[in-house]
Amino acid sequence: MTEPGAGTLRRLEELRSEFDDLASRFLGYPTNQNFDYSALLPFLRYCVNNVGDPFHESNFATNTHEIERDVIGRFAALMRMPADQAWGYVTNGGTEGNMYGLFLARELFPEGIVYFSEDTHYSVLKITRVLRTRNIMIKSQESGEIDYDDLYETVRINRDVPVIFMANVGTTMKGAVDDVRRVRAILDDLAITRSYIHGDAALSGMILPFVDDPQPHTFADGFDSISISGHKLIGAPIPCGVALTRAAYVARIARSIEYVGVMDTTLTGSRNGLTPLMLWLAWERFGAEGFREIVREMLEVAAYAVERLNGLGIPAWRHRNSVTVVIPRPSDEVVEKWQLAPYQEIAHLITMHHVTRDHIDRFADDLVAALPVTESA
Ligand SMILES: *Cc1c(COP(=O)(O)O)cnc(C)c1O
Repeated sequence: MTEPGAGTLRRLEELRSEFDDLASRFLGYPTNQNFDYSALLPFLRYCVNNVGDPFHESNFATNTHEIERDVIGRFAALMRMPADQAWGYVTNGGTEGNMYGLFLARELFPEGIVYFSEDTHYSVLKITRVLRTRNIMIKSQESGEIDYDDLYETVRINRDVPVIFMANVGTTMKGAVDDVRRVRAILDDLAITRSYIHGDAALSGMILPFVDDPQPHTFADGFDSISISGHKLIGAPIPCGVALTRAAYVARIARSIEYVGVMDTTLTGSRNGLTPLMLWLAWERFGAEGFREIVREMLEVAAYAVERLNGLGIPAWRHRNSVTVVIPRPSDEVVEKWQLAPYQEIAHLITMHHVTRDHIDRFADDLVAALPVTESA
């Protein structure tokens, strides 16, 4: 085999050291950088492919389906779905999980209308275009949570049409959680019998199970499917996530494909076989107790950030059980330096597990230095 030349290696090394530099100032995106999957390096030598339904046979034998089922079992238990009713697979991220949920919903209720709030992730509007489902955007409250009155009125005037509701379990910008029990109550009040609720729990799906007073986030609370990202709270070098739902729904869309000997229940054909290993390894290492501790530490740093910034007169705030700290949009220089994600007049920092109090202190110093100088009273 030809070894890569010196120029090639140099270019890779430059890229790697750039990543190292960026990693030291990474506050704006919900991706945890504290992870170590070096135990999996030997698997880079194999052509691993998880094509097909992880709960069925596959002719493509170099797969990690058994471990993938283990991973789905862990997440299903976390989301309070009995093992014998649960189905799911490891996706390429939260977007695919959302698409899977809405795909199932559309197959169950082809004429249904998809409702979601203004604060919903940008993937959802795109998905409704791909699936060509009718959709109605509902107003949000200032907090980022859906406006229940607007939802009530809008569903009321479409009472003859099935409801497909896309619930935010932690919005991207403000970390707000739509109260799925209130949504269920609205549907009951309007005597809507045909409905489906998908939960977009990209980040908070790995936070709420580990706090003492969580907002509703489980199947027991009324979800029909849930999407959780793997590369966010858990952390991974390759984007990934899980789509979770009831096996009975999936049976409605399953088609058997003879040539690969699989059930074609997933959105893509060939699927990543390494990401299930990563999620499994993380679960093996941390377990529920380890994740509980990680979440506790993250929430502590988030509380510290709010306190520290408020002490400087900056009106930072966050939702209960959220690591997303909302701040007024700082200067472009600060946004760029700390890799923040600004949106209109706000921005946020997200205290993922790699973010320490020291990061917050340094960030606070930069914010203060960038503030316009005002006359002191
Ligand atoms: C990040 C995020 C997504 C999309 O997840 P990807 O893994 O980036 O595809 C969806 N919804 C919410 C609320 C998110 O924060």
